Amino acid sequence: MRIPYSKPSITEDDVALVTRAARDGWGERCYEFIEEFETRFADFCGSSYAIATSSCTGALHLGLAALGIGPSDEVILADTNWIATVAPIVHLGATPVFVDIEPDYWCIDPNAVRSRISSRTRAIVVTHLYGNVADLEQLSNIALEFNIPLVEDSAEAIGAQHHGRPTGGIGTFGVFSFHGTKTITTGEGGMLVTSDADLYERVLTLSNHGRSRSQLKQFWPDLVGYKFKMSNIQAALGCSQLRRINELVERKGEIMMRYRERLGSVAGIELNLERPRCSNAWWMPTIVWPTELGVHRDDLRQALVSRGIDARVFFPALSSLPMFQPIANPHANSLPARAINLPSFHDISSESIDEVCDVVLAVLTSLGT
Ligand SMILES: *Cc1c(COP(=O)(O)O)cnc(C)c1O
Repeated sequence: MRIPYSKPSITEDDVALVTRAARDGWGERCYEFIEEFETRFADFCGSSYAIATSSCTGALHLGLAALGIGPSDEVILADTNWIATVAPIVHLGATPVFVDIEPDYWCIDPNAVRSRISSRTRAIVVTHLYGNVADLEQLSNIALEFNIPLVEDSAEAIGAQHHGRPTGGIGTFGVFSFHGTKTITTGEGGMLVTSDADLYERVLTLSNHGRSRSQLKQFWPDLVGYKFKMSNIQAALGCSQLRRINELVERKGEIMMRYRERLGSVAGIELNLERPRCSNAWWMPTIVWPTELGVHRDDLRQALVSRGIDARVFFPALSSLPMFQPIANPHANSLPARAINLPSFHDISSESIDEVCDVVLAVLTSLGT
């Protein structure tokens, strides 16, 4: 039997609400679930406003555009990231500045951020990698000190908290993804949250083809905007999934705990770490081992794949991709060869987790001794 690395948790209630939206959510009711999803999501993040989008990438694009980011501006982000986090920066004509990550939490290193701030820095984008919470305390202080907006890419960290506050709701704005691999899904979809009323209005206008809410003329955009909207049908699934958010995040934690029990005590193996006074979202259980073991991640991945287990590679450093210039960030460059993401869909059985751990242990301990 194949063990996928990810797959959404879909119930009959989810299906029923989507069906209702498909049947009745038209005409006067065509925004019903979108509005409900936005209101409840903002509430979940402790934010004043939320705007549902077609993807997290789209949400990030809108937010950065609303901050006025463009050519000659620099945006600092971690070198270890999914391409989605840098693509909007490039499309807006700004220059991404890739900095290294912390070796233990795998999130952007605040000291590295500080060292790369320039007179052109217009935003710091912080990704809570694999559900681990970034060092928002230090990062917020830097953002405050230099008066630079702090953006949270919380796509992988829905349900995480930093000092009691939900991630995504702490920065100038935060973005989330509801792609099928994420903790809750709408198929494709995203969300932008903020408590800044002016920023909210600008994003709302940009997201609606540049048509302001206060513009009374029909078909009258005041600027060229974007069309990155979520459909009412998708939002219905989002509403239904959001009702189970605590249960879904909790299940991710249980899966992580099982991996930790089996792998955590093996010398050298490190797993996702919870920062003090934070609670982790445990989106993607990840193991990292020391170079000295002499195991390349392709060896382990091959062993897993041959047993029908779908494991994923740790993100390659963005600066190592062909469209960017290589940067010698030691952690971002060394981790991918000695790390792997393990399966963690909600319905995975303990037996399947044990099967994954058996393969991991066989490869990492036999070759290592
Ligand atoms: C999944 C993901 C995204 C992109 O989400 P989409 O909804 O696919 O656009 C962005 N950032 C991070 C960190 C992600 O994991």
